[in-house]
Amino acid sequence: MYLRGNSSKKDGRRFSNKVSLKVSILSLLILFCMWMVYYFVFIRRIHTAFTHFFYIPIALAGFFWGRQSIWIALFLGACLMAPYALVDSSVFLVEDLLRVIVFMGIAWVIGTLRENNLYYEKKLADIIAGISIPTFVINKDHIITHFNNACEALTGFSAAEMIGERKQWMPFYSKEKPTLGDLIVDGASEEVINRYYQGKCRKSSFVQGAYEGEDFFPEVGENGRWLHFTAAPLRNTRGEVIGAIETLEDITERKQAEEMLWQQVYHDALTGLPNRMLFNDRFTQALAHAYRNRQKLAVLFLDLDRFKNINDTQGYNVGDQLLQGVAERLTDLVREDDTVARMGGDEFILLLPEIAQAENATKIAKKILEAFKQPLMIGGHEFYITSSIGIVFYPNDGEDAETLLKNADIAMYRAKEQGGNNYQLYDPMMNVKASERLVLENSLRYALEREEFVVYYQPQVSISTGKIIGMEALIRWQHPEWGLLSPAEFIPLAEETGLIIPIGEWVLRTACAQNKAWQEAGYPPVHVAVNLSARQFQQQNLVETVTRVLKETGLEPHYLELEITESIAMQNADFTIVMLRHLEEMGIHISIDDFGTGYSSLSYLKHFPLDTLKIDQSFVRDLTIDPNNKAIVIAIIAMAHSLKFKVIAEGVETQEQLAFLKQQQCDGIQGYLFSKPLPAEAFEKILMRDVSREKPY
Ligand code: C2E
Ligand code: MG
Ligand code: MG
Repeated sequence: MYLRGNSSKKDGRRFSNKVSLKVSILSLLILFCMWMVYYFVFIRRIHTAFTHFFYIPIALAGFFWGRQSIWIALFLGACLMAPYALVDSSVFLVEDLLRVIVFMGIAWVIGTLRENNLYYEKKLADIIAGISIPTFVINKDHIITHFNNACEALTGFSAAEMIGERKQWMPFYSKEKPTLGDLIVDGASEEVINRYYQGKCRKSSFVQGAYEGEDFFPEVGENGRWLHFTAAPLRNTRGEVIGAIETLEDITERKQAEEMLWQQVYHDALTGLPNRMLFNDRFTQALAHAYRNRQKLAVLFLDLDRFKNINDTQGYNVGDQLLQGVAERLTDLVREDDTVARMGGDEFILLLPEIAQAENATKIAKKILEAFKQPLMIGGHEFYITSSIGIVFYPNDGEDAETLLKNADIAMYRAKEQGGNNYQLYDPMMNVKASERLVLENSLRYALEREEFVVYYQPQVSISTGKIIGMEALIRWQHPEWGLLSPAEFIPLAEETGLIIPIGEWVLRTACAQNKAWQEAGYPPVHVAVNLSARQFQQQNLVETVTRVLKETGLEPHYLELEITESIAMQNADFTIVMLRHLEEMGIHISIDDFGTGYSSLSYLKHFPLDTLKIDQSFVRDLTIDPNNKAIVIAIIAMAHSLKFKVIAEGVETQEQLAFLKQQQCDGIQGYLFSKPLPAEAFEKILMRDVSREKPY
């Protein structure tokens, strides 16, 4: 095929010209020889031969200018023949007229042939220039012969700088690399092409010898573009490859739309993490890979502790931001090959393929727990959140995705039962526990209406007077089959299931009513302390509930004390302050339970309107033998007093402990030394005994 380039100054380099040029020169030479033979043999006038050779330019004109040259030939012929005609008019008329006609014929034939070529060449050049598809053509020497406007617009390179050069790689790559067209021109095999294009291109299904592909080209445009590229060979009439034509299509928008769709279908809209569907996909692949290569694989199932409380109390907006923060933290902690997915709600899952040892998975779990110690900042406020993690390994804990996920879930629940903020490796025994838990949960749902709960009371005694200054209400579950259950056995489950809300309100009402009844019975009025779980405390309508209960039972607010733990108070300090202020304004007393077990500082607690700190029994237990605990208790009492808080020591069981606490001027004690928690009737006897008691401890 004979193609004409866009730029005339580069014509000398045009590959297809060479073929036609050779043919044309050859025909001219043959013409010239025939000419000479004719003159020598028939006319034998050498000067005429040379004179007549002036016809050569006419033939050349025919060659270069096509059929128009016939008119030029006529004109030039007339001009050249005119002098002859004047000298020898008879010869001219016959011989030269014939000659002119012959030359006109030759010029016509050559011109037509040439014009056809030029026509097609020009036509193709026009087509390439005119189409809106970015297209460039290279010849078999890898030199660009065409580079159309659309290609200029796409690549930012001009035709002027590209045509005649071997720079076709330049718009697409940062360093020299053969384009698909170059490989086709070189007759590269499919294997070679695939090696260069890393499987990103394939044979065209409808153009023989052509290839097409898609890839992202960072060098194209401002931020890179996605291009669909097709390269097809250009062949001459003998079928030999004499170049290649490459067309490009900017598919960035389509790719972005596809990406968006993929993102929407396979990703969680809130956090941008892979969703359950994508996770399942990757999990199945990872399992197949692990099976083939006899490798291990770990799955970490993570659930945020008490997240529902945050959603309930702070609103979904804060909850959403918290989930986003958690997603970010988790993503930062894992390797690129690992998958962090959101399974829904506050559940996340981590897939760690090719895990060499079990310890590596536990290390990550520890890292996660550690990372969560830092508060999350939302709207300028600090939020502390913890998580419970269940860990399973393939193939030890299950050979298929379903079993592994089920067991990871069981292990996670085990971690929750342990109080949250920890991880548990799956153990087959957990399965048994999980079914037990299910039975317990079912039973718990009906316990309230079946009136199976009982409130026990434990006295709080003043160290200086030995008199009862209050009592703590502690729930028990009198189960018809399992007997008396302690709160540790069902409160975490009640908390998790939300059943704590009605149960907690029932305890509050029972305790207030009982206290009021004892006051009405003539016992010296003391406060009753009621424990609040995280969920209860974070309920927006807590103040209303307490107000209603106090009204219903007739107990004056200052005879009610509400106990919250440090971690509940610190979970969202701003909310705590607001809530405690409300309660304080009502006249209710507040105490911090299990003090010393959380990570709050006393200096922080001073911002809360508190009345009492209850030193956790773990410090009191070894008080007389462990110097550290001794030092801690001394410090807590001193600091609490300086902040004007009363101090009650929990779990006091011995006289030595009592003596030490007395020496440190602790305000009150609660423990088996004085009395275990007792049912109301038994407690009443203590109240009676207390009235007649004279001597302090
Ligand atoms: P807590 O509020 O710290 O209650 C004190 C716990 O220490 C009680 O356990 C009590 O029986 C125990 N105790 C008291 N003195 C001694 C002692 O001298 N030695 C020993 N070893 N233990 C002592 P209990 O009744 O089993 O309650 C456990 C926890 O369950 C409570 O800890 C509280 O956090 C929770 N709880 C109890 N009742 C309720 C309730 O009505 N609502 C909520 N949300 N939680 C409750
Ligand atoms: Mg308590
Ligand atoms: Mg306590």
